[in-house]
Amino acid sequence: LAQLFRPLDMLGWVYRTVRQGLIDMAAMFELIDTEAEIEDTPGAPALVVRRPSVAFENVVFGYDPGRTILHGLSFEVPAGAHVAIVGPSGAGKSTIARLLFRFYDPWSGRVLIDGQDIARVTQASLRAAIGIVPQDSVLFNDTIGYNIAYGRNGATHDEIVRAARDAAILPLIERLPDGFETEVGERGLKLSGGEKQRVAIARTLVKNPPILLLDEATSALDSRTEQDILATLHRVSENRTSLSIAHRLSTIADADEILVMEHGRLAERGSHPVLLRANGLYAEMWRRQQAEDEATPELSAAGSAS
Ligand code: ATP
Repeated sequence: LAQLFRPLDMLGWVYRTVRQGLIDMAAMFELIDTEAEIEDTPGAPALVVRRPSVAFENVVFGYDPGRTILHGLSFEVPAGAHVAIVGPSGAGKSTIARLLFRFYDPWSGRVLIDGQDIARVTQASLRAAIGIVPQDSVLFNDTIGYNIAYGRNGATHDEIVRAARDAAILPLIERLPDGFETEVGERGLKLSGGEKQRVAIARTLVKNPPILLLDEATSALDSRTEQDILATLHRVSENRTSLSIAHRLSTIADADEILVMEHGRLAERGSHPVLLRANGLYAEMWRRQQAEDEATPELSAAGSAS
């Protein structure tokens, strides 16, 4: 009987570990890498990023044959610009992020970074150019220093300290008796959602990528922490190109351009004031979220858990 239950125990452990956020995103990506069908073409050059623009050119894509998810999507994020992608659930927002990271290739059309088709460069160079601040930040059961240094092999102590300072986590670390050597995770220091997010931001800063992909980075935080983290993200996005996938519109209202997706197509695009004046889908989503925020301030403060 014990034999029978051991696999279930194991599953329970994996589930708890994943839930507690102790798995590592990068390790997960490596896993996906090794299992993905996408391979570098022999002799593919490395991506060379001088001016980090991102462009989708007429991208058609679906996960399964016969079900198209993106129907000829085109947009451009000029180098240094901050563009946000919003839209109802299932509109295709995360699919755009997956194509940019090249987990999949488009059926037709191209994804370009600085004018180079990402399908024709090495995946290692592509992924080195993009930093992700994910929805749920995940930490290793290791020291806080290790968790930050993981952003790049060979990061120096000075670089780690600078990243921690820029991500506004240094004051906390300096208060700990063991500083950067403090163990975090299951057996060590428990970090709050906001603190974990800051460690993830510091990790991304150590990587120092020209392009940032922010995946609803503030969804699980109370509104004060959300504001603090947003201010940090604004600071670290300066001089970089960023693409934010957002559910809460208040977090992206100052983006240079907002792309409003619906059923795998661009329904609207423009700045926040332009989209409000257009009085279409975005304006409707905005009004609905404002009304929800007023009706349930404590819920909106916690963010949507979806
Ligand atoms: P949400 O706001 O809920 O995260 P989204 O706009 O990010 O939604 P996507 O995750 O891009 O939406 O999904 C777009 C469509 O693709 C959905 O209809 C979804 O069911 C489908 N889809 C997503 N991932 C897969 C997959 N791995 N296999 C098959 N279909 C998928």
